[in-house]
Amino acid sequence: MKLFEHEAKDIFRAFGMPLPPGGVAKTPQEAKKRAAEVGKPVVVKAQVLSGKRGKAGGVKFADTPEQAEELAKEILAMKINDLPVETVLIEEKLAIQQEIYAGITIDRNTRQYVVIGSSAGGMSIEELAEESPEKIIKMHVNPDTGFQPYEARQMAIDMGFTGKAINKLAGFFLKLWRIVEEYDVELTEINPLILTKEGSFLAADARLNIDNNALYRHQELIDKLEREPIEQNEREQLATDHGMAYVELDGDIACICNGAGLTMATLDAVSLYGGKASTFLDLGGGSDAERVEMGIKIAQMYDKVEAILVNIMGGITRCDDVARGILAAKEKYGIEVPMVIRMVGTNEEEGQKILNEAGIPFLETMEEAAKKVVDLVKEEK
Ligand code: GDP
Ligand code: MN
Repeated sequence: MKLFEHEAKDIFRAFGMPLPPGGVAKTPQEAKKRAAEVGKPVVVKAQVLSGKRGKAGGVKFADTPEQAEELAKEILAMKINDLPVETVLIEEKLAIQQEIYAGITIDRNTRQYVVIGSSAGGMSIEELAEESPEKIIKMHVNPDTGFQPYEARQMAIDMGFTGKAINKLAGFFLKLWRIVEEYDVELTEINPLILTKEGSFLAADARLNIDNNALYRHQELIDKLEREPIEQNEREQLATDHGMAYVELDGDIACICNGAGLTMATLDAVSLYGGKASTFLDLGGGSDAERVEMGIKIAQMYDKVEAILVNIMGGITRCDDVARGILAAKEKYGIEVPMVIRMVGTNEEEGQKILNEAGIPFLETMEEAAKKVVDLVKEEK
């Protein structure tokens, strides 16, 4: 679950992190009020679950409450990276001496948390990693001991800070670490962490993503948010309701399989033959005709899909059932994109016969099926 900047900042504040004063607004009038409360030039920031708002025009500066009202009106009417802006955050505009990056995320290769810092904050960490990787300081966290104060200070020193700044900056890293532990965080970022001309450090931006699998441990937080924790489109919702694992991708071939391993392998096979998957859909174990039908229904709702590849291992799942589910889906939803089927296991021959009679390509191996579906998509184009 991704938190909005202002939601993340509420958590940061609760952990004693220094933040610029301010508050949220849902209307231009409210924005004017917030700016008047701040009593200084402010920054008006679009609250959307996307990064790079600055570049998209979602972060603007106002000298007066009237200006803040105008800008809020503009920003509240915007869509940023396709997301409508429903809330703005009004905060005191800081006089920047330096923009710093501080974050913690999971390093899946080492299976550890990794603390990341840079004295060259402001731009995205991905861009920084490409342009000047030497400016990024990383420290892996030993899961037995957690992230220690001396390590936080070492981070600050390695980032080039001296004197009092070391402890101040270390404090941000340690607070981030406590938040990570408390909320099962997957990724948290302060970018920029601003060093002001007056010499104070403040978190100007906040990003916080919580592991969806741990949400059940954070009911209290979810209740406080007064919104759906995870925004799902119609198709994702339907898949969740039926206990299926569904992920949308950029390609055009929907892969419907049973078992995550088989689904991944099928995506790989499609990619091997030069195709691109649009859909990862794991129907789960014990898939009967109805589940297969539902899977196809969900897959074909996604407008990128140009072909459907069904790859099923029959065990408890019976191939003749699957074949009947496929035919039922084809009839009910008037599927027009080509379908290619590969099935092995229980009642394989019966299943094959049903499909053959309906003129749906049935192939013996995953490789042949993947190649066939890729060819069909190419022919269509
Ligand atoms: P993002 O683009 O979505 O990451 O949004 P940010 O909150 O990081 O804002 C984008 C940029 O606006 C930052 O990198 C800063 O350069 C600038 N910015 C944000 N807050 C302030 C502020 O209080 N004062 C000044 N001068 N610039 C700010
Ligand atoms: Mn930022």
